[in-house]
Amino acid sequence: MGNILEVKNVSKYFGDFTAVKDVDFVVEEGGFFSILGSSGCGKTTLLRMIAGFLHESEGEIIIRGESMKGIPPEKRPVNIVFQTLALFPMMNVRENVAFGLKRQKLDKTEIDSRVNEMLSRVGLQGFEKKKVTELSGGQRQRVAIARSLVMKPSILLLDEPLGALDRKLREHMKVELKLLQKEIGTTFIYITHDQSEALVMSDKIAVMHEGQFEQIDTPRNLYKNPKTAFVAGFVGDSNRFELSSQEAESLTTTGGWTVSKPGIEKADLMFIRPEALILYPTEGDNDFEYFDVTIKTILFDGSNTKLSTIVNGSDEELLISLPQNAQFESLQEGDSIPIGIHRDDLKCY
Ligand code: ATP
Repeated sequence: MGNILEVKNVSKYFGDFTAVKDVDFVVEEGGFFSILGSSGCGKTTLLRMIAGFLHESEGEIIIRGESMKGIPPEKRPVNIVFQTLALFPMMNVRENVAFGLKRQKLDKTEIDSRVNEMLSRVGLQGFEKKKVTELSGGQRQRVAIARSLVMKPSILLLDEPLGALDRKLREHMKVELKLLQKEIGTTFIYITHDQSEALVMSDKIAVMHEGQFEQIDTPRNLYKNPKTAFVAGFVGDSNRFELSSQEAESLTTTGGWTVSKPGIEKADLMFIRPEALILYPTEGDNDFEYFDVTIKTILFDGSNTKLSTIVNGSDEELLISLPQNAQFESLQEGDSIPIGIHRDDLKCY
């Protein structure tokens, strides 16, 4: 399938302040594309430019091959779901979902059939007559999404729509939203500061930082091969080390731990995923770095066990994730244990 959206070198300035800087990307039709970044990085500004509520200072936005220059929000083939949902509290579920179609003055039979179909798609049959104030957070969410999707937008823009829900409901809605998107096939552009939402739901994620895109990739690649130090630190958990010296292939951290990494150029930072570390490795593989650590604390959180350790002969703390179902119950605080890591998993920047 082709690209439904092209954002070409778009920047947005508010006076002297650059909120979005030279952002350039495409979104494939039918995809679930997330823009992930911390508060203030420019996500909402970018979304508002795609929706047409804000004008880009530079660059161009193209939807379905057509430039959006000068096209007002209501004429763009996009719809937006806000974090606040913005439902009409005095209306029931059916009236909320039918609202946009009525404004388009479609005939009643068409409105009824589109609303019915959409309510059944989002699993809200039987709720037609309920006031939205009588619904749960998750049900309100689905009304907001149905109200947008019933307009048949080419692209649905979602601005942190799970932000107001409690943790359990968010976990559930993540899966529901992904399934809904796959079933309906509408392109979703989803903005969030929550990396686990982005990783679970998306086909592609753009990581945004200070108005710029750092990396656009599949969730798996983003996690496995972060291109920048920012992405390595922002997506997933990592041990982070500052490097104080480098001699040929030997890197030494400020806490005095030395590892070797062939082919490395100048680096200042090193990141290691807690789950990339292997306990009691079989030694002798040249691609691996072997060393010993001393266990400081054992952290058990129900589904996972992590070890907080110190690398022997240094001051460096190292968090290690134990594989699930691993039989390491005999481990004790104070134990010194051998560790191995593939040198590809020493990520240096
Ligand atoms: P959040 O997740 O907190 O909503 P965000 O990534 O969506 O953050 P934006 O709302 O896009 O961030 O804002 C990016 C930056 O642009 C912020 O520093 C914000 O203060 C600034 N900004 C946004 N709108 C305006 C405006 N109308 N005038 C001046 N500065 C603005």
